[in-house]
Amino acid sequence: MTKNYDVIIIGGGHNALVCANILAKKNKKVLICEARDTCGGLATNDLSNFTPDFCSKVKSEIDNIAINHSSVSSIALSETGHHLKLTGKEAEDRKTLEQLAPEDVERYFKLQKKLSLFSKTLGSFMHSSPPRLLHKNFSDYFKLFKLGLNVRLMGRNNFNEFARMIGLNIADELEDNFKNTLLQGLISHDAVTGSNLGPRSPGSLINLLFRMANHNNSLFGGIQQAKGGVDAVIKSLEDNVVKRGVEIKTSSFVKRCIIENDQVKGIELGNGALIHADTVISSADPKSTYFCLLGTEHLDTDFKRRIKHHRSKGRVSKLQLTLNKVPEFKNLEPTELSQRLVISPSIDYIEENFNYSKFENLSPEPILEFSIPSLEDNSLCQDGQHIMNIQIQYAPFNVKGGWENKKTECIDNVLTILEKYAPGIKSCIVGQDFISPNDIEKNFNVTGGHWHHGEIQIDQLFMLRPIPGAAQYKTPVNGLYMCGAGTHPGGGMTGIPGKNAAHEVLKNI
Ligand SMILES: Cc1cc2nc3c(=O)[nH]c(=O)nc-3n(C[C@H](O)[C@H](O)[C@H](O)COP(=O)(O)OP(=O)(O)OC[C@H]3O[C@@H](n4cnc5c(N)ncnc54)[C@H](O)[C@@H]3O)c2cc1C
Repeated sequence: MTKNYDVIIIGGGHNALVCANILAKKNKKVLICEARDTCGGLATNDLSNFTPDFCSKVKSEIDNIAINHSSVSSIALSETGHHLKLTGKEAEDRKTLEQLAPEDVERYFKLQKKLSLFSKTLGSFMHSSPPRLLHKNFSDYFKLFKLGLNVRLMGRNNFNEFARMIGLNIADELEDNFKNTLLQGLISHDAVTGSNLGPRSPGSLINLLFRMANHNNSLFGGIQQAKGGVDAVIKSLEDNVVKRGVEIKTSSFVKRCIIENDQVKGIELGNGALIHADTVISSADPKSTYFCLLGTEHLDTDFKRRIKHHRSKGRVSKLQLTLNKVPEFKNLEPTELSQRLVISPSIDYIEENFNYSKFENLSPEPILEFSIPSLEDNSLCQDGQHIMNIQIQYAPFNVKGGWENKKTECIDNVLTILEKYAPGIKSCIVGQDFISPNDIEKNFNVTGGHWHHGEIQIDQLFMLRPIPGAAQYKTPVNGLYMCGAGTHPGGGMTGIPGKNAAHEVLKNI
């Protein structure tokens, strides 16, 4: 076993690439071992539709990524054709709401302002390692004090409102505020996307705040389509780390970490090769990291229990339709089909979908978020054919009857719904590719196939993410760290866990 590297990173998702870039800029010799034949992990055109813009705090620390982005509007589809299009730009949205939901206009902007303040406050905690509980250490006390101060600086009324809302469900808040059910459905959709919560589940509001914190603190602003899709963002991140001297080994599944006397010493690949480094960072999900890469023999009973109960069953499936012509949607221009289109017409519609998935059943009328990005970006057009990317919310990890028998039914349900909005769409389809959360687990090496590598809920957030006692990117084994979406502040293409983890590692090497 030769000592070649300062740091080995397990997995080559976008967080690993951000982490590697920061470490390489500090002249660390870094190796990335990725199990798949390409980098990017869940951040691929095959799964992810849109990205939040990497925020300035991440961008300023990595090499410039050569990507053109365009902002995307969110369009809530209505069967009547009175679709609701929100852009995040106040003047445009005011005009739209005055036409379609006149009674809700002022309340919408009031709610947007309030949620924006709360998401900004939440966002201010995202960019560093969370404080440790029960450690009588000055820097932890200082972080806790700063945290309390930021919340208190919102003012007394806002502080009380924040405390009231933090465990609340999104449905109550929206039903108190709005009359328009389409508007309620669209906001609720964003509060539950990628999660195991329904709009009436306590805590669904914090999910929305988390999402807003990653999208310019806006309900519908800050959603981006990268030219070339998510794949182009990954290519740019990858090119930059390679230029910095980072070595990337793809098709290199890491079987285990080598541990000697509670200190990590390197990794063993699936083919038996041993590679040495005194620092290893796992971007794999928490269950894989602790149970597979580290091994339960290195964990105490309480730690094992916490990881076992970490909730990480995904509920989003992806369907890609290849279309030989552009389908006609009622009351939508073809160019609008490249925007974020959402079928989630009311809170009750979402809650009913959630009920089906709770009992491991498929909803006959699923919730869909979709787009045909090639209508704006020619580079995504394949031989004149367009790909329609569809995310299906609440497709359970385990479905009664097994996914191998249920895929066709799930696709049929999606197409039946789409036909209502775009009669004749079925005749445009020349190919289809479906991937369930169960497939995501197998094909992308993420336990449960979860969007965030683990639920974003109050007991799995911040000082408790992924679990209490290991929330600072560190594990109980010296030299072994984590940097993926399972760590603070969670998933989505933000690069924040990767950036924060790099700083934690740099304190110690
Ligand atoms: C269906 C779906 C749709 C999504 N849509 C969006 C979206 O539209 N917008 C958005 O912002 N986010 C979206 N997300 C979430 C987002 O893609 C993820 O949260 C994010 O990409 C996670 O990045 P990561 O780098 O932390 O982990 P990952 O992308 O999961 O990367 C981890 C990598 O580690 C590798 N790995 C794991 N174990 C090993 C091992 N033992 N050896 C070697 N390699 C290993 C994996 O192969 C993987 O490449 C979506 C997620 C899903 C599931």
